[in-house]
Amino acid sequence: MYYISTRNTTDRLTASQAILKGIADDGGLFVPEYFPTLQKSIAQLAEQSYQDVAFDVLSLFLTDFTHEELWHCIHGAYNTEKFTHDSIVSIKSIGNHHYLELFHGQTIAFKDMALSILPYFMGVSAKKQQQTKDILILTATSGDTGKAAMAGFSDVPNTKIIVFYPKGGVSHIQEMQMLTQAGENVHVTALNGNFDDAQTAVKQVFTDNDMIDAIGKYGYQFSSANSINIGRLLPQVVYYVYAYAQLIKTKQIQIDQPIDICVPTGNFGNILAAYYAQQIGIPIRRFICASNENNVLSDFFKTGTYNANRPFYITNSPSMDIVISSNLERLLYHMSGNDSAQIKQLMSDLTTTKRFTITEKMRHNLSPFIGEFATQQQTVQQIKQVYQTAQYVMDPHTAVADFVCHKVSHNDNYPIVIAATASPYKFPKSVMGAFDPQYLLQDDFVLVDTLQSHTNLPKPDTVTVAQQTAPRFNEVIDVSDIKVSILNKLQS
Ligand SMILES: *Cc1c(COP(=O)(O)O)cnc(C)c1O
Repeated sequence: MYYISTRNTTDRLTASQAILKGIADDGGLFVPEYFPTLQKSIAQLAEQSYQDVAFDVLSLFLTDFTHEELWHCIHGAYNTEKFTHDSIVSIKSIGNHHYLELFHGQTIAFKDMALSILPYFMGVSAKKQQQTKDILILTATSGDTGKAAMAGFSDVPNTKIIVFYPKGGVSHIQEMQMLTQAGENVHVTALNGNFDDAQTAVKQVFTDNDMIDAIGKYGYQFSSANSINIGRLLPQVVYYVYAYAQLIKTKQIQIDQPIDICVPTGNFGNILAAYYAQQIGIPIRRFICASNENNVLSDFFKTGTYNANRPFYITNSPSMDIVISSNLERLLYHMSGNDSAQIKQLMSDLTTTKRFTITEKMRHNLSPFIGEFATQQQTVQQIKQVYQTAQYVMDPHTAVADFVCHKVSHNDNYPIVIAATASPYKFPKSVMGAFDPQYLLQDDFVLVDTLQSHTNLPKPDTVTVAQQTAPRFNEVIDVSDIKVSILNKLQS
């Protein structure tokens, strides 16, 4: 299996090369040259552990990894030290809504699913490519990626990680989780600006030749842990395969019965992984792309025009506060019939005019994708209503998806897997505020304890650690100072 850029299909890279490189030289994203198919029946997969399913899925894509290397990665990432649930993910079913809980990892959000294994992929890949330089990871985060990447890379030999987050754009708990992260090789810096400013700045540094030379002198080379890295995307395919097999096993659905998948979407990585799961053999009818008030994607799926020329809102589902969804480029590539020239043009339109419009043919191919959004008020209502009727506590991101499911369902009772992307403990203010607005004035950490006494939902250990540890970092900079800030950290 080789990987090619969405903007130029002449260079072919192995999986390990693509993982180390992160982004292609032409600015495109790496995609598999073709989609493989699952080698086992769903009935067989239904009897397997999460780790075994991970092996079956990942070995289809990482064909230059030996079986031994792949097991080393899987065992290092998906174990009961890093995940509090024996089966790594869990499914909570309420009627035809099946909440796929992806938040039992170290940072209680779904990005742990990929970021716990990516450092292992990189370690194996670096060895395979006989690299002499250490890996420097730069990550822009809207809250969850940063902590998950710091936890994943913490004290992993021959790596350093620097995370940038928008000051004021993440929750108090998210900020404290990052500022208290242990590890000699981890750093975190706040940027004045929003997430898109941070992501754009980091992307520019990656392709800046002067910076590549400068960090090379310190013995480093760049790599990316952002969801543009193919090594982030592939592990996310696993849980959709696993979830489908488990629903068969528990007889919630019949063999071959198609399902809908609904994902609270930001950078479009998670929902794209669901599409990859379908391509390798999971029967999926519709992909429901749920957004908050930053609804650029819902407009895109309705009109065929992606228009980033719009106000940016800071909402109560901050990990979805995004105007440029990077991973959409991969879907467009697949939908265009692998037409890299066309993708290059669309992305250049996006850079120059902040918008692009796809062809009728692509729109037609995109018809299994439905885009809708929830306002902040609707999100809060949904949290409250589901707790009142089913005693199920949702975080605001999951609630956005849940609301959107009701909005787009035809009351046909179709089985829907909803990606539950964060623990309610990550966003206690929004959750408790939904029950009673008086809580909106209280501190996150006070509300963590209130949430526990109110709902009896067990409080994760990682929250207690963030509550009780002193911050290790305090740097706040302007975007224009990002290069100096990076180089300073390599000198020490
Ligand atoms: C990152 C994140 C999302 C968005 O996922 P994408 O893969 O970027 O679309 C949704 N919910 C939570 C809690 C997240 O951390």
